Amino acid sequence: MTFDSLGLDSRILTALEKQGYTQPTPIQAQSIPILLSGKDLLGTAQTGTGKTAAFTIPIIEHLLEQEPQKRRRIKALVVTPTRELALQVAENAKKYSAGTGLRTAVIFGGVGQNPQIDQLRKGVDYLVATPGRLLDLHGQGFIDLNHLSHFVLDEADQMLDMGFIHDIRKLLKVIPQKRQSLFFSATMPKDIIELSGQILKPNYEQVRIAVEKPTAERVSQEVYFVSKKEKPGLLYHLLQELEGAVLVFGRTKHGCDKVVRILAKKGVKAAAIHGNKSQNARQNALKSFKDGSLRVLIATDIAARGIDISGLEHVVNYDLPNIPETYVHRIGRTGRADASGASISFCSADERGYLKDIEKLIKAEVPLVEDHPFTEGAAEEWADPENRKPAKQGQRGPRPGRGGAQKSQGSNRSGRPNRSGGSKGSRPPRRR
Ligand code: AMP
Repeated sequence: MTFDSLGLDSRILTALEKQGYTQPTPIQAQSIPILLSGKDLLGTAQTGTGKTAAFTIPIIEHLLEQEPQKRRRIKALVVTPTRELALQVAENAKKYSAGTGLRTAVIFGGVGQNPQIDQLRKGVDYLVATPGRLLDLHGQGFIDLNHLSHFVLDEADQMLDMGFIHDIRKLLKVIPQKRQSLFFSATMPKDIIELSGQILKPNYEQVRIAVEKPTAERVSQEVYFVSKKEKPGLLYHLLQELEGAVLVFGRTKHGCDKVVRILAKKGVKAAAIHGNKSQNARQNALKSFKDGSLRVLIATDIAARGIDISGLEHVVNYDLPNIPETYVHRIGRTGRADASGASISFCSADERGYLKDIEKLIKAEVPLVEDHPFTEGAAEEWADPENRKPAKQGQRGPRPGRGGAQKSQGSNRSGRPNRSGGSKGSRPPRRR
C-alpha cells in the first residue's frame, strides 16, 4: 500500500513526501481507511509504531474537506498524558499539515499560560493538550470546544495511571456528542475498555499492533546482575564502553538526580528529567538529548512513553520497573521506526522478581551478561536474604489485577549468575 492509494489531499501527500515517508506503517495502513470512513477507532498500539500520523492524517483530510468558516475554531482535540508527548504530537501534526493552512497549537501545564492564550486567541484548528491545563483554560473561557468534530484520547492507560480519570470525565461533558472519537492505549485492561465504551460509538472499529513487537524484533536486550550500591559504577563502566546516546531510566526523582551528580563527579555530563523539574528544564534537557549535544539523559517513567528520539542507541534500566509493561515502553524508546537498538537492564537482588515478571510478559528470557566487573558484589548482595525483599517503588504501585513481583521473588536461590549470556536480539549494544 502507498499513501497515494488512500485518496488523500495532495497537500498532505506533499507533506508526507517531505518527511520521507514512502509507505504507511501497519497501524497507518489499517487505521487510515477506517478513520477516513468516519468510524470511531479503538487502537491498541504504542508510540513508535507511527500512531501519530495514523490518527493525524485522516483528521487533517477531514478538516480540509470541511466548509471553510469565517472564524477559525478548534475542530480536532488530542489529549495526551504528558507534556512531552503533547509537544511531540503537535510537532508532528504541524509537519503532516504543512502547506495546508491549518493551524496547530499545544497547551500544557508547568509553564505560563499567557503565550498559550495568545495562540488560542489567534485561532486554532488542531489542538493538542494535557488534561489539567486544557480544563483550566476552558474553565477560564479561553477555549471553545463546542465546534469539535474530532477527539483523540492518546495513551489512555498512562492517562489513568497518572490519575487523570476525573479530568477525562469532566472533558467528556463539555465536548460535543456528535464527533469522531479515537482511543489509543498500549494495553487494554478492564478499566481502559470501560472508559473506551464511554467515549466511542458502539460501531467502532478496532486495530491492534502488538506491543511486544519492538522488543522482540528490533531491540536487543541484556541484563546485568549487580548490587544496588555498585549500580553507579556499572553505569559509568558501560558509558565508557557504549557508543552513542544513552537514555537511563531510574525509579525515583531523587534517584535520578543522584545519578546525575555521581556521573558529574566522574566528568560525565548528564541531565535528569522528572516531575520535580520545571517544564523548561525538562524541555531543554530533552532538546539537548534529541539534538545530540547531551549524550546521557536520566529519566523517570515520565519519559517512558511517547517520547520519540530518533536514532537513540541505548536504553539503560538503571532500576527495573515493577510494572512489566513499563519495561516494554521504556525499551521502545530505542529501536524505533526502522532503527535497531539495545536495552541494558541492571538487576539488584531485590529486583529479580520484577525481572521474572518482565520475562513472563515478553515471553522470553532476557540474556544475562555473566562477565562484568561487578559480579562479586552482586553475589554478595544476593547471599543475604534481607536484600532479596522486593524493591520499594517510586510514585506508583502495581495496578490491581497485575502480577506483582512478590509471587515470583526468591525463586532464584543461586547467588551466581545462572543463565547463558549473549544477546538474542537484533544486535548487541554498540560498544566502542
Ligand atoms: P509515532 O509512533 O507517531 O511516534 O512515530 C514513530 C516514528 O516513526 C516517528 O519518528 C515518525 O516520524 C516515524 N514515522 C511515522 N510514520 C512513518 C512512515 N510512514 N514512514 C516512515 N517513518 C514514519
